[in-house]
Amino acid sequence: MGRRLKLMRIAGVDIYLHWTYWLVPVYIIYSTRIFGEQSWFVAGVMLFLLLNLSLCVLLHELGHALMARRFGATTKDIIITPIGGLARLAGMPKNPIQEFLISFAGPAVNLGIALLLVAAIFIAGGSLTPAFVFDGLSQLPVILLWINLVLFLFNLIPAFPMDGGRMLRSILAQRMGYLRATLIAGRLGQFIALFFSIYVLLERQYPLILVGVFVFFSAQFELNQARASQVNEFDFDSADS
Ligand SMILES: [Zn+2]
Repeated sequence: MGRRLKLMRIAGVDIYLHWTYWLVPVYIIYSTRIFGEQSWFVAGVMLFLLLNLSLCVLLHELGHALMARRFGATTKDIIITPIGGLARLAGMPKNPIQEFLISFAGPAVNLGIALLLVAAIFIAGGSLTPAFVFDGLSQLPVILLWINLVLFLFNLIPAFPMDGGRMLRSILAQRMGYLRATLIAGRLGQFIALFFSIYVLLERQYPLILVGVFVFFSAQFELNQARASQVNEFDFDSADS
């Protein structure tokens, strides 16, 4: 996973920051120069928002890790990258219901955070719609609420490499086998990535093409892994008999 910095250890899981993560604060400081006199204030607000976003991503990954532990799977580590987090599980259970629950635990954390923020904003008498003005940090709870709702919905997209892809695979695997279910969830992810890439190309949002490319190859990685594990099982079976 390349160069990374160990941040801390929570519940027996090592948390790392991927080296590419530092590109985000550098980009924020660089891009907020257009705000003139206010640039350092705007950069400060954006960096604080980034910190909170990363914390929500970390809690999402811990959701996966703690649910996995309930079913006897250990988490090797959690890596925070600019495009999200990654909890690397050792021995993902092949039980479809357990895999479904482990996959859903991450988005469920984001939904939980969003509901807590709705309650807090409601009690404080605030509005749930963001105002999109830099009036300091009073907008932070509302922005975080929407970020968590987006994280929840985005991760439920039923295609690899999103959590929803894993959930779809666990449902399909009960009817058609693990490999075929992975193939469907994986190809669905690649189709969405291709569609997304063409769309952002037409809209001239060129940096977003990187997201499409990442999703496409992550889906391919899942397919390759499923094929490899199928081969291992086969090898094991033939050695056994
Ligand atoms: Zn997740």
